[in-house]
Amino acid sequence: MEPSHPGNIGAAARAVKTMGIEQLVLVNPKRFPDPEATVRAVDAVDVLERATVCSSLKEAIGQCTFVVGTTARKRGLACPQIAPRELGARVWQELAGGPVAIVFGRESSGLSNDELDLCQFVTAIPSMKSLNLAAAVQVICYEIFMAAGGAHAVDVESEDALAASMELERLFEHLQTVLLEIGFLDPRQPKLLMRRLRHVYQRAQLTQVEVNILRGILSATEDSTSR
Ligand code: SAH
Repeated sequence: MEPSHPGNIGAAARAVKTMGIEQLVLVNPKRFPDPEATVRAVDAVDVLERATVCSSLKEAIGQCTFVVGTTARKRGLACPQIAPRELGARVWQELAGGPVAIVFGRESSGLSNDELDLCQFVTAIPSMKSLNLAAAVQVICYEIFMAAGGAHAVDVESEDALAASMELERLFEHLQTVLLEIGFLDPRQPKLLMRRLRHVYQRAQLTQVEVNILRGILSATEDSTSR
């Protein structure tokens, strides 16, 4: 809502993008576009370029089915509170129903009571003093990212892609063949054990590289038993 410092707009664009969020809506920004916003966005310039500018909060959240305001201050009788961590998980549930908006206030005065009235919930990041606007955006987006298993997503990006269902099925077939060959699996009743093993491997969220290693072990087992 009405950010007055273009630097904060750029920093907010960067903050959302680092957490996998791409859509920024600006309500009456004082200065935008602005070179300072571009500089602060670093490699989130695309988020800035695609940012929508609206003239009222009502317009900005018009299509949203779940709207949460953020506040640095304790408010009297505002709408129900939700903790940022709880909000992170809730966002993913609510996205099934439609677009979700998290609303951030002005640097000088936050959100007005009328603006908070448009929100279903309000969330406050526990802090000694109010945070910088873009820092608050970062914390909330971090919670949303983490609720979706963010740390895991990062591992995958830096290391290896997750195995697809088809690759897992080939692993299970291979495993079943080998377990029969080495006499571990009862050929009259293979299903129960295979189902249990499936659960083990599915819980592990194997990457493609890991599936290849496991299949390598199975092939080596076959080689050594056929010798
Ligand atoms: N002086 C203002 C501070 C606004 S800080 C006031 O007293 O309200 C700018 C915006 O950053 C806030 O409107 C809110 O959206 C966000 N923000 C800052 N600190 C926050 C916190 N602790 N929890 C949630 N949002 C926060």
